[in-house]
Amino acid sequence: MKTADDKGTMLEYMRDESRRSGNCEKIFFPTSEEEVISIFKENPRTPITFQGGRTGVTAGCVPDGGIAVNLERMNRILPLKPQKYGGSIIVQPGVLLQTLRQHLRPYSLFFPPDPTETTASLGGMVSCNSSGARSFKYGSVRFYITALRMILPGGEKLHLKRGACLARGRHFSLTCESGKRISGVLPDITMPAVKKHTAGYYIRPDMDMLDLFIGAEGTLGAVTAVELKLLPVKKETWGAVIFLPSEAAALRLVRLLRGETALPLTLEPEALEYFNSDTLRLLRRAQRSKEALCQMELLPAEDCCALYTEYASDNRKALKAAFEETCSAMESVGGDPRRTWAAINSRNMDKLHQFRHAAPECVNTRISEIKKDCPSVTKLGTDMSVPDHCLEEVMSLYNEGLAAGGFDSVIFGHIGSNHVHVNIIPRTMDEFNRGKELFGRWAKDVAAMGGTVCAEHGVGKIKTALLSELYTEKQLASMQDLKKIFDPCQLLNRGNIFSFLP
Ligand SMILES: Cc1cc2nc3c(=O)[nH]c(=O)nc-3n(C[C@H](O)[C@H](O)[C@H](O)COP(=O)(O)OP(=O)(O)OC[C@H]3O[C@@H](n4cnc5c(N)ncnc54)[C@H](O)[C@@H]3O)c2cc1C
Repeated sequence: MKTADDKGTMLEYMRDESRRSGNCEKIFFPTSEEEVISIFKENPRTPITFQGGRTGVTAGCVPDGGIAVNLERMNRILPLKPQKYGGSIIVQPGVLLQTLRQHLRPYSLFFPPDPTETTASLGGMVSCNSSGARSFKYGSVRFYITALRMILPGGEKLHLKRGACLARGRHFSLTCESGKRISGVLPDITMPAVKKHTAGYYIRPDMDMLDLFIGAEGTLGAVTAVELKLLPVKKETWGAVIFLPSEAAALRLVRLLRGETALPLTLEPEALEYFNSDTLRLLRRAQRSKEALCQMELLPAEDCCALYTEYASDNRKALKAAFEETCSAMESVGGDPRRTWAAINSRNMDKLHQFRHAAPECVNTRISEIKKDCPSVTKLGTDMSVPDHCLEEVMSLYNEGLAAGGFDSVIFGHIGSNHVHVNIIPRTMDEFNRGKELFGRWAKDVAAMGGTVCAEHGVGKIKTALLSELYTEKQLASMQDLKKIFDPCQLLNRGNIFSFLP
């Protein structure tokens, strides 16, 4: 098995897209489940951090001592099983989203979750319960996992199939392949009632125990194989970027395109994404210098914000009707169809996807530049979501906080699910610290609205403080007790979800 402890590799593998750096003694690159087991057995007292594509933005895969186990070489895709509607496929955790997509193309099937970063691995996506733009229609990774294989501390193999391992109330009992039984009681926790939530463990009475391991951020074991549910690709996908004069207009349009009107919509959008005026300003600057953005249409010069929407169907008439409805809704809030980018073929759709992906990329690049002068700065972005009726309230909360603090910032993301990312771009350490404090205050307010503090990126190591706005100390302790049932010495992914106290 390949291992590495040289300076060059260590430097590269010690960070993720949060731009936080860590350290460890050695990195292992297993190619099989048996090699993962031997790492566990040969290092029984060593802290272990798992890594996938390292595109995470909360430092979940950044080690803090011990060893790192990078699963990128476990990248086999097993033969696809067609089904009456769609299909299923088993993949190893190191398979990248872009590889899976390419593999599925000839079968006209797709895996719906799409964290826009396609170099994410399936193991990382399962561990964060990722979602992305299309989750507005399809939901997060959780809904497309039908089975998982896990390796637990000590090298025990656990195979979990959806529907085959249900808790009874709060009591659960799982049987490892060796016959060893793992039993326990789930914490008494009620998760926020929002569409996207990945802050701490997924816990419900009578739950399918498979769901506990999805979004567990590698704190319970290593994911070594995943069975995915696939859906048939629709014949056509059409998209539009709609430029609007104000955020208020964009929020009104979101409600119309979500179908919150008297008239039912022909099609539900697959994605509904927002880009505020600061984001467009950042993109305009990048458009002048960045090659990838050069292929995009030129952004309007005047101050405006934008909504991105996407529809897919086998029926061209339905797509036309959806576009007409979008057009009249847009006009009713002050939008202008002549200033809208519309895409009705795959080449133009690629351009729109590029536009959508450019915002987080540009922010991450800015943070790297700032780090040269302020090395302690990491990405400072929110991942909170609220119930539908709180959308306007939460946007006001964000805008007022940013204005009062005098921050440079951008707001973009999954507004269809009331889940935008506010990114502060700190110019100094003082701004960085004030930004973190502001996020803490927002977390309290968002929790009071019935929302969540982490909707898709996970808690990782940089959002542990926010979790205590959602759950009491006692509830967090009971979550940690649950971890100890699987990982008694708390060696796995130390510092993720729970601040680790030695
Ligand atoms: C530009 C950009 C845009 C993004 N947009 C989105 C978005 O729209 N939606 C979204 O949800 N995310 C988004 N992300 C975040 C990121 O892509 C996702 O969190 C992704 O799921 C991380 O996958 P990864 O393979 O890179 O995992 P890593 O970063 O390597 O790891 C993530 C976590 O999973 C654990 N882990 C990884 N593999 C395993 C394994 N086999 N077993 C156990 N634990 C494991 C790690 O320890 C860590 O805790 C974006 C990131 C970037 C850079």
